[in-house]
Amino acid sequence: MAFLIDPYKKIQTELAGYNAALVAVTKTKPVEDIMEAYQAGHRDFGENYVQELLDKQEALPKDIRWHFIGHLQSNKVKYIAPFIHLIHGVDSEKLLLEIDKQGKKLNRDISCLLQIHISAEETKFGLDEVELKTIHENIAARKIILDKAQLKGFMGMASFTEDNDLIKKEFSHLKVLFDEYSTLNDQYSILSMGMSADYRFAIEAGSNMVRIGSLLFGSRIYHK
Ligand SMILES: *Cc1c(COP(=O)(O)O)cnc(C)c1O
Repeated sequence: MAFLIDPYKKIQTELAGYNAALVAVTKTKPVEDIMEAYQAGHRDFGENYVQELLDKQEALPKDIRWHFIGHLQSNKVKYIAPFIHLIHGVDSEKLLLEIDKQGKKLNRDISCLLQIHISAEETKFGLDEVELKTIHENIAARKIILDKAQLKGFMGMASFTEDNDLIKKEFSHLKVLFDEYSTLNDQYSILSMGMSADYRFAIEAGSNMVRIGSLLFGSRIYHK
């Protein structure tokens, strides 16, 4: 498998109509595939695993904007802090504070998104609405003081289901939350939602950043 240029162009054209950005998700894919997309002009790539990201970052051009889209453990923030462009999956105060701490050490702003749990599934990570509210209250009350961690918006994943109405409902719900919190936080500008199977529903619901892997690089085979 390699980079699929025709689907790429088609998706980019579609996204342009919605002013939505594309993060090309390359987990499990070789650096050769990423280079093909890079040569086609793409610069935003998403990875889920820290070690895999570090290896690829080392091997690939330095003007790539790397997005961390997986579940990030606090003790691993320090490895990606020097170069990461956007951390999509912040789902605890602890992680947010660790990102801030590493940003301070490096004197580097680190952009991040709060991951919100919107799906009916138990398994997916993310903040529930109470936790979301608490984080914002703590920031407002200066119980949490962020210096270098820059909150830029929200990320969410819909249920993995054939029920399109449910998917649309979950994305619309996240968009409502995003609009609500955006009125209070003028730094909020990114709503990251939508993957290969559901990105059309996501952009119709107001997503402005989609994370697409399989449609661009073929399906993934895991060797575990
Ligand atoms: C793997 C992954 C994607 C991309 O999935 P595809 O179905 O291949 O498009 C998007 N977001 C997250 C968080 C992922 O883990």
